[in-house]
Amino acid sequence: MEAKMKRRTFLKLSTAAIAAGVTVSNFKDADAAEWKKEIGKKGSQPDPVDEEVKLIRSVCLMCHGGCGLQAKVAKGELVKLDGNPYHPNNYDYEAKGDIVVESDLDGGHTGKDRGTLCPKGNAGIYSLYSPFRLQHPLKRAGARGSGKWKVISWKQAITEICGGGKLFKDVKGEENRNIEGLKSILNNENPIGPEDSAYMDEAPPGGWGPKRNQFVWAHGRNEQSPLTPRFVSDSAGVPHMLNH
Ligand code: SF4
Repeated sequence: MEAKMKRRTFLKLSTAAIAAGVTVSNFKDADAAEWKKEIGKKGSQPDPVDEEVKLIRSVCLMCHGGCGLQAKVAKGELVKLDGNPYHPNNYDYEAKGDIVVESDLDGGHTGKDRGTLCPKGNAGIYSLYSPFRLQHPLKRAGARGSGKWKVISWKQAITEICGGGKLFKDVKGEENRNIEGLKSILNNENPIGPEDSAYMDEAPPGGWGPKRNQFVWAHGRNEQSPLTPRFVSDSAGVPHMLNH
């Protein structure tokens, strides 16, 4: 009962926090209502004991740390995230005399071998179920910085990114702006010319090479590090990957 009261208080506080969020971040009321409905329904729950649970071992992507996780899925719903005790990032350690050693993986259910995720890792469950999660490409629908976006289909996004054209002809001031698509950039036939670079006078004797060299992948912290080289090096055929 006490726990329920506490939870209710928490919900009230959450609602207030969300209301504040609506004011400052322009979340639509309808979205916020959906979010409120979800709170308490999703989120990390106690270990399920009375139903069949599927255990899926994966890697946390809530930061670049790459801890191993163990996802518990009941009736198709992710109900709990834990650390994977067999993943090297998640080993627990214990003091043995004046040295620290990895804990015994056979320590049993109550042993110190269970592995942990940090609170941010635990919150990964909300990344999956948040109604604010982006699930479609967004295209800018106003001037840069105006904060206006529209949802487009994956087909439209891929067509426009690859084919280019006057992609922002509906945006005031950009009616005639031509965007070069990847199809035009990713070729070895045409060299980078003055129409592509304002720095031709700084180029080495052979020039800047084929237009393909215009393609640069600039990420911040790369949470998808094993995947991006497959796209950038193997598919686009360039070595230009820059981290922060
Ligand atoms: S559990 Fe925490 S530290 Fe580990 S990857 Fe996830 S967010 Fe990063």
